[in-house]
Amino acid sequence: MQRANRPADIPVAVERSWQAQLRDVIRDPRELLARLELDAGWLPGAQAGHALFEVRVPEAYLARMRPGDPCDPLLRQVLPLDAERDAVAGFVSDPLEEAEHTPRRGLIHKYARRVLLIASPSCAINCRYCFRRHFPYAENSPSRGQWQETLDYLRDDPTINEAILSGGDPLVSSDQRLAWLCERLAEIPHLTRLRIHTRLPVVIPERIDKALLGWLAATRLQTVMVLHINHPREIDAALVAACVRLKAAGVTLLNQSVLLRGVNDDAATLAELSEALFAAGVLPYYLHVLDPVAGAAHFDVPDDEALTLHAALRERVAGFLLPRLVREVPGETSKTPL
Ligand code: SF4
Repeated sequence: MQRANRPADIPVAVERSWQAQLRDVIRDPRELLARLELDAGWLPGAQAGHALFEVRVPEAYLARMRPGDPCDPLLRQVLPLDAERDAVAGFVSDPLEEAEHTPRRGLIHKYARRVLLIASPSCAINCRYCFRRHFPYAENSPSRGQWQETLDYLRDDPTINEAILSGGDPLVSSDQRLAWLCERLAEIPHLTRLRIHTRLPVVIPERIDKALLGWLAATRLQTVMVLHINHPREIDAALVAACVRLKAAGVTLLNQSVLLRGVNDDAATLAELSEALFAAGVLPYYLHVLDPVAGAAHFDVPDDEALTLHAALRERVAGFLLPRLVREVPGETSKTPL
């Protein structure tokens, strides 16, 4: 592919509020290609994929990509391809069968002792491999009144000790809304832990601001944040600074990655990722094989290759830097090791 002309107005530094950055994410495949100096030959495929699951790329994430490189591992995660239209046996719209486990609007209860709350119907970035790319958010976005039913469900089940905020990305929600939810959860005596799964600090590190740190530090609940980082180049100085702020607020930081063809499917990259995570104060926790979601089959790494990679990774890192290689199997009550 040939390089397109570089637009003169590519911004480099990003020092704006997270809300402004969120508002201005790139939503047009043509703009994404132009900003990265990529040939327009990629456009038909990008538009075909975009029609299935729209492009969303924050500027701060774009700034970490290499212009002119269609194989850039960060770009690969967000660039729609024609391959997303391929129907591949076994790749389905709800690979984890979550629709079977939603006893209340916006609530998924499939594991013992913990429930997952869909705290936001959208994300700052749309990752092409996302297992929720077909999730019916419109049917699972509770109003404040409906949250009350969800909270009642938690209050009525004393076996539940952990609430997990998911989405979409829960941190897309305002701090006012999140603080309200956190306070209500903290009022439930048997809840001890609040876990937040998010990619927002990775793609817009400014999200970790005073307001967010305020309610996180104030709650009586133990707080855990699971970041979703797949490649060492996603970790920049701004993200490291955000992690330092989170740790100072008492938040335990873990990471889970997805093993993705063309992104992180080699042991050297995964080892570099583990080292960079630990240097930022984050423990590598899970390395997931791809959930078989329709439109993402081109990211798949077969099990035997995943196991070989994991064994090679074990040779390269200290034991506490080795993420567990797992898959999520519908109907199982925990992640399944490979
Ligand atoms: S941030 Fe997470 S939930 Fe959102 S698109 Fe990416 S993988 Fe999916």
